[in-house]
Amino acid sequence: MEGSNKAAMEGIRKAARAYFDNQSDRKKKNARKAFKAMDKDGDGQISLPEYEEYLKKKKANDFVHTSIFRALDKNANESLDFGEAIVLFYLMQSGRALICKSCNIFLAGAYFSCSQCFFNDSVSTYEICCACYGGDNFTHHDDAVFCDHYTLLRQSRSAVQAAPPMRKRDKALQILKKGLLAASVSTSVLECISNGDDDDDSSKFSCSIM
Ligand SMILES: [Zn+2]
Ligand SMILES: [Zn+2]
Repeated sequence: MEGSNKAAMEGIRKAARAYFDNQSDRKKKNARKAFKAMDKDGDGQISLPEYEEYLKKKKANDFVHTSIFRALDKNANESLDFGEAIVLFYLMQSGRALICKSCNIFLAGAYFSCSQCFFNDSVSTYEICCACYGGDNFTHHDDAVFCDHYTLLRQSRSAVQAAPPMRKRDKALQILKKGLLAASVSTSVLECISNGDDDDDSSKFSCSIM
C-alpha cells in the first residue's frame, strides 16, 4: 500500500474504532456474531476465502476485492482479527467500497471522480486515485472533468443551493443523494448540505480550485 493511502487507512481505522466503542452493547454483540459467522473454521481469524464467502452471502459484492482485504489486514498476516474486521463493518455501513478504476487499489483517502458521471443518474461513478489522475494514467471519456472528492462535495452543496424553490430543491437533493451514496459520502453530510446557510456565496459551481 502506498504511503498516503496507508495514512488514510489509519484514519479510517480510528473512525471505525470510535464508532464501535460508541455503539450500544447489543450492537457490539451483533458485531461479534457477524465475526463468528464469517469465521467458518472458528480459529478467530478471517481468511480471504472466508471473507469473500461472507460478503457474497451478504450481497456486498463491491467489497469482494483483494485490495480492500489487504487494506483491512493491518498486520499483513493474510487474515483479519476482530479489530480488523470492525473496520470492514464500518466500511460496509458507510457503503465505502471505492476502488481506483485504473490501478485497482482501494481508495482509502483523497481521490478524483469524473464530475459528469457523478451527477449523471444513469451511469455509474468513475473514481481514480491521485497517482493515476496526476500521472494521467487512466482512460475515460475525453471531455471528462475530474474533481477531488472534497471539491465534489462542495459543488454538490452549490448545486442544491442553486436549485430554486423547495420542490426543485428536494428533487436536486434526491439526485444528489444517489450520487453521493454511490461516492460513499454519508447521509449526515447530506443533511449538512440541505441545511446549509444560503448566504454563503463562496461556493461557486466550478471545478477549478487553483
Ligand atoms: Zn490508481
Ligand atoms: Zn465520466
